[in-house]
Amino acid sequence: MAFIVAIDGPAGSGKGTITKLVGKRLSLVNIDTGAMYRCASLYMIRNNIHLDEIDKINDMLKKIEIKQEKINDIDKFYLNGEDVSDKIREKDVNSIVSQVSHILLIRERMVELQREMGKNADIVMEGRDIGTNVFPMADVKIYLDASAEERANRRLKQNEEKGIKMSYEEILENIKFRDNNDKTSPVAPLKQAEDAIYLDTTNMTIEEVVDKIVNIVDSKRK
Ligand code: C5P
Repeated sequence: MAFIVAIDGPAGSGKGTITKLVGKRLSLVNIDTGAMYRCASLYMIRNNIHLDEIDKINDMLKKIEIKQEKINDIDKFYLNGEDVSDKIREKDVNSIVSQVSHILLIRERMVELQREMGKNADIVMEGRDIGTNVFPMADVKIYLDASAEERANRRLKQNEEKGIKMSYEEILENIKFRDNNDKTSPVAPLKQAEDAIYLDTTNMTIEEVVDKIVNIVDSKRK
């Protein structure tokens, strides 16, 4: 059985950055499950598939191939062979991804793919429902959190680095909207697993958070 570290938390809690660094330090394959829902969202936008068009969604799930690959230490995401790493972070995807991720058919398929990924490799997987739903038996579960304002600030910086233009207000509004959607969803809502370790990272540096998680994992592995 592979070793599994589950990292959950709301948008902008630092899951992406932290998961990558923890993976590197501990030689675990890092997997970004949000990117998978983002790829499905992009496909729906491009093919004009609406949230309630179940037949078209079913058809889409048979057709789409989503892949995460590390190229020169950068995680790249491919949708049917096309590099969509930047496109899946854009505004149009942001505005529907939360709803897309709550479509039962889509979630079931993505969870199936995520469980497959944990079969053959030691992994650190980030998302919203990894510790509660995808891997309830994960070896280590972490719930990362931070204030909405701090999370919006972090996203703003990240976007600036990537050349994505969104104002602080727009980002904060989107974060709050997604928080509410994610926490109140009838399908795998965002919540801390009972046996997860809660880390409020509002006043912590990235290095401090990574060190803390590495120590937790190390003590579990011994
Ligand atoms: O992590 P990221 O912000 O990229 O995730 C995008 C959206 O996908 C989240 O707002 C959430 O609605 C959804 N998601 C989810 N379950 C996961 C990962 C992401 O519902 N495991």
